[in-house]
Amino acid sequence: MASKTLIKTKPRVEKNRVLVTGGAGFVGSHLCTYLVERGDHVICVDNFFTGSKENIKHLLDRPNFETLRHDVVERLIIEVDQIYHLACPASPVHYKYNPIKTIKTSFMGTLNMLGLAKRTHARFLLSSTSEVYGDPLQHPQTEDYWGNVNPIGERSCYDEGKRAAECLAFDYVREHNLEVRVVRIFNTYGPRMALDDGRVVSNFLAQALTGQPLTIYGDGQQTRSFQYISDLIEGMVKVMDGPSTGPFNIGNPTEFTMLELAKIVQEVANPQAKIIYKENTADDPTRRKPDISKASSQLGWEPKVPLREGLRRMVKDFSERLNVELPPDSK
Ligand code: NAD
Ligand code: UDP
Ligand code: UDP
Repeated sequence: MASKTLIKTKPRVEKNRVLVTGGAGFVGSHLCTYLVERGDHVICVDNFFTGSKENIKHLLDRPNFETLRHDVVERLIIEVDQIYHLACPASPVHYKYNPIKTIKTSFMGTLNMLGLAKRTHARFLLSSTSEVYGDPLQHPQTEDYWGNVNPIGERSCYDEGKRAAECLAFDYVREHNLEVRVVRIFNTYGPRMALDDGRVVSNFLAQALTGQPLTIYGDGQQTRSFQYISDLIEGMVKVMDGPSTGPFNIGNPTEFTMLELAKIVQEVANPQAKIIYKENTADDPTRRKPDISKASSQLGWEPKVPLREGLRRMVKDFSERLNVELPPDSK
């Protein structure tokens, strides 16, 4: 009898199977890139409402990356170890476009992904927002502030949607002992933002680089605190891999008025660009600044990239995508 040669199969290398919903969007594509580089097996789920294949094209030939066109409002059956749940339009222009779909995405999408986490025993991170504080009466905002949100206004589909998503996440902790993490993200900017995204940093930069006037809504005295994308990704991963549910504010506490932002964008992108004023949108929060002492003391996380430096990195990406040269007097 001929002797049989035993073929030894390669030992199965256990990979962390990480689902990123909204993975083809601005934040999601940076997160997928970070996790793929780290060696996780990443599954990007997206319905491509505001995301694009362009954002993830550099990952498509990586063996530890796959994509699935899927709407999180529908049930999803896959096997995973961690879920970063980002799927939801984030720019006011986009989330107001179809507000019923926005709140459905926030509520039903989060319910489905929590159900998936429960069945697979996966750890679940919800990307919530500083918008849960609404037009805040406390300044800066700490995580224990309950917020000041108009429940029936134009922004409610997003603000109340995220508040309901947070409620669901904490109910899955209380009822099912699920491992949940919640981050409240403050205004974040960086390369790969959609050129027509409609948020203030991408609007100002695209306008400056194409020689159009920068459009300030209202009197320009409202404030925001802008965080560079790499700081957010580092913070999100620290929260996911850290020991406590949160919620954690993840943002850069340096606060700017929109007029100050416009002047800095002029300085780095086009000193010749003009500024014009337009009517502001309804319920626009007058000021916003995170208190990050919780993330800093519990996770050792702090943002590193100052606004001017982050904007310069974004100018490079935007000028390439817009196919324009930088004006010689920009710094
Ligand atoms: P984005 O619009 O670029 O990305 C959202 C992604 O979700 C897109 O790829 C979109 O196609 C996808 N998506 C939307 N609805 C979906 C659905 N029903 N099913 C599947 N995919 C869907 O926005 P972003 O800035 O990358 O934001 C990502 C997450 O971070 C969002 O949850 C947002 O609320 C949160 N967030 C972002 C900021 C910020 O400043 N960027 C601030 C606060 C919170
Ligand atoms: N769900 C899903 N994938 C799964 C498990 C659940 O998409 O692998 C969805 C499903 O639509 C369900 C929701 O998650 O309605 C909540 O699930 P859970 O088990 O918590 O409650 P159920 O609604 O099944 O009672
Ligand atoms: N804004 C502006 N010009 C623009 C876009 C936005 O002045 O072209 C203002 C907007 O009214 C708000 C701030 O910039 O006060 C931030 O708006 P964004 O849509 O970026 O994010 P939000 O924090 O409102 O979700």
